[in-house]
Amino acid sequence: MAQTTPNHTQTVSGWAAHDSSGKITPYTFKRRENGINDVTIDILYCGICHTDLHHVRNDWGITMYPVVPGHEITGLISKVGSNVSKFKIGDRVGVGCLAASCLECEFCKDSQENYCDQIQFTYNGIFWDGSITYGGYSKMLVADQRYVVHVPENLPMDAAAPLLCAGVTVFCPLKDNNMLELDSPPKKLGVIGLGGLGHVAVKFGKAFGHHVTVISTSPSKEDEAKHRLGADDFIVSTDLAQMQAKKRSLDLILDTVAAKHSLGSYLELLKVNGTLVIVGAPDKPIDLPSFPLIFGKRVVKGSMTGSMKETQEMMDVCGKYNIKCDIEKTTPNKINEALDRLSKNDVKYRFVIDIASADKLSNL
Ligand SMILES: [Zn+2]
Ligand SMILES: [Zn+2]
Repeated sequence: MAQTTPNHTQTVSGWAAHDSSGKITPYTFKRRENGINDVTIDILYCGICHTDLHHVRNDWGITMYPVVPGHEITGLISKVGSNVSKFKIGDRVGVGCLAASCLECEFCKDSQENYCDQIQFTYNGIFWDGSITYGGYSKMLVADQRYVVHVPENLPMDAAAPLLCAGVTVFCPLKDNNMLELDSPPKKLGVIGLGGLGHVAVKFGKAFGHHVTVISTSPSKEDEAKHRLGADDFIVSTDLAQMQAKKRSLDLILDTVAAKHSLGSYLELLKVNGTLVIVGAPDKPIDLPSFPLIFGKRVVKGSMTGSMKETQEMMDVCGKYNIKCDIEKTTPNKINEALDRLSKNDVKYRFVIDIASADKLSNL
């Protein structure tokens, strides 16, 4: 159903899924006029996140069709509202998962609005004016300035796009565990899954001098993990002898796997008092045996993207250390193919849609 909110008068071209078949087709829709606190962004690139796949196929039963996915957005500011001081026309900016929050609760007031009870997302959310939010698989976005960050000059806009979700999602648990300070003592980090999130986690870990172990079901990823991404160690999780040999060796594990799995054997890899943070989002419950928790006083917790303050901090760190995502660029007419390949984990490591190429293609 098309939006009928009164000030939604700007016509935008985008790409949407219209039902749970998940097929993406061109879709023209309306966005709001640029308000006093808003910026308008001409979108250059948008990453394709696993969450997009779940939404287009309605895996979580919450999709409001038509859905225009995309929350790893980079682009250039083309308009600023009268209250906007942080941005000017032409600025290189990014928008991640968040579109609005209540602004009043303890989390909003403490720059942790990603944990606001009334958080609204960049797509498939309900904005303050009651309209459904549409994401970055589109040529233009109007965003409240509070949910926009600067992209450092030295980062390419295509490889920076996935940092807005994948990057900040792994950045925050590392920060929470004091592993992103210059003088922080080296720790032993484990990363389960070498995909969009995992490969950036390895880069952050190495940039800050930690010992990084990649844990994967695919022995074929060892060479890539060690020699190209710089991981120090690699464990094949299905190899019981390897898992046994590395018991009690890690301080922190980031679990980036989106498929259902059991945590028991991974928890054994943690030292006593170690923490495993779930950042992948399996749609089925995870098996969590109690013995590895009890015998090692271990902690399992979750982490949900990052606040806007943390997102800007992450971007600045990426600029400083030249951390970017490894991407495979695609075009709007190939989104279905990309989603299909993503569902088979057949991408190194993130698809990024070259949104501006749509105009070039249509001119052919
Ligand atoms: Zn995402
Ligand atoms: Zn709030």
